[in-house]
Amino acid sequence: MDNFNADLHIHSPHSIAVSKSLNLDTMLETCKKKGLTILGTGDILQPEWLKYMESNLEKENDGSFSYKGIFFILQTEIEDLENIHHVVLFPDFNSVKEIQSKLKSASKNILGEWGGRPRVNLSPPALVEIITDSGGIIGPAHAFTPFKAIFRQNKFESLEDCYEGVTKKIGFIELGLSANTDLADRLESLKNISFLSNSDAHSQDPRSLGREFNRFDIDNPSFDEILLALKRKNGRGITLNVGLHPKLGKYYNMFCNRCRRRILFKKVKKQANNIFNQYSITENFIIYYSNDPISSRLDYLEQVSKNKMNCLSCKEELNKNFKVKLGVSERIEKISTSIEPKHPDHRPPYINVVPLIDIIRSVKGIKSKTSKTVLNDYNKMIRDLGTEFEILIDTPITKLEKFNKNLALIINALRNDEIEYTPGGGGTYGQINIDV
Ligand SMILES: [Zn+2]
Ligand SMILES: [Zn+2]
Repeated sequence: MDNFNADLHIHSPHSIAVSKSLNLDTMLETCKKKGLTILGTGDILQPEWLKYMESNLEKENDGSFSYKGIFFILQTEIEDLENIHHVVLFPDFNSVKEIQSKLKSASKNILGEWGGRPRVNLSPPALVEIITDSGGIIGPAHAFTPFKAIFRQNKFESLEDCYEGVTKKIGFIELGLSANTDLADRLESLKNISFLSNSDAHSQDPRSLGREFNRFDIDNPSFDEILLALKRKNGRGITLNVGLHPKLGKYYNMFCNRCRRRILFKKVKKQANNIFNQYSITENFIIYYSNDPISSRLDYLEQVSKNKMNCLSCKEELNKNFKVKLGVSERIEKISTSIEPKHPDHRPPYINVVPLIDIIRSVKGIKSKTSKTVLNDYNKMIRDLGTEFEILIDTPITKLEKFNKNLALIINALRNDEIEYTPGGGGTYGQINIDV
């Protein structure tokens, strides 16, 4: 048995907002830096991408597909009639083509240039039947995000609600960037299902590709072994989930559906008569002040859940009402069955990480996400110290100190969970708050 770090949900240039320079060679380069050995192909139902993959991937004797030493699982994302996204994995190219032809009549864009993530006019159970009948594995993508997800506000509260009679055929749930195991294991109904942490990358940038991944304990990097691991059979399994700290995700915190400001509660000594009368509005936040911010927030959440809470900023600006929506953390709070996570025995540890490039940016005080200085430092660290994952998790702090004292300080704080985060929400990523 061997360890493989796998990121099983990415996209191709045939999905909107994806980097044109994303291809097998650029993916390969990032995989080596990050320490990834298995990657989803992304968008495999799109005809041009399918052709590209079929002509470049080599089939190994163990059934796996490889490209210059990195292994690939044939993969796509599909949107159904309920606007729910699903991650789908395929055993081989025959099954991809079979499913493509079965879905063709139910989709307007599956064969189009921009059909990377096709939409099909099928209910969730109908889609699950088609995929599993042709040997594929399917599960809901980024399960708790406020848009396009199974557990979003006013949608489903359990797998059974959504998938009814075919719930047993669901292979996994994907946590999404704004959730981790501690959050998801507050739902009793998810205790038997395996969790995946994938990047949903739209580019080969090391800040994106592999920012979340799973460590599989399997015999070889093939579809069959991944399937066994998801079912936790024959000693196979997932031994580690690695991903962004949920607060860094784009949808952790509640937000206004129009201006996208995030709503926060802060403590003050003196409270106004009406708790929602004392607030300030900044570029990105609406902050309420209360002498008991925890209970004020709960009252507020109650109204948001009923779709009754309006954004104060939009009201002031436009004199119109726009609703506040629950983020991932509040939605989980709302539908959870326990306050603390109850991890089943099979659940592997989850490691919260921050992309190394973002740590270097913070240390250097550089805002630009494409800075050459930052990228040069990043590449030098990888050359000298090992893969990004090793640097974040395993490399002794003394060794990191020799490279850069402040950087070592931050990585040490991250490992000990002593970092403060500004939570992301409404489509904006969260941030780490550090003074160096
Ligand atoms: Zn999606
Ligand atoms: Zn607003």
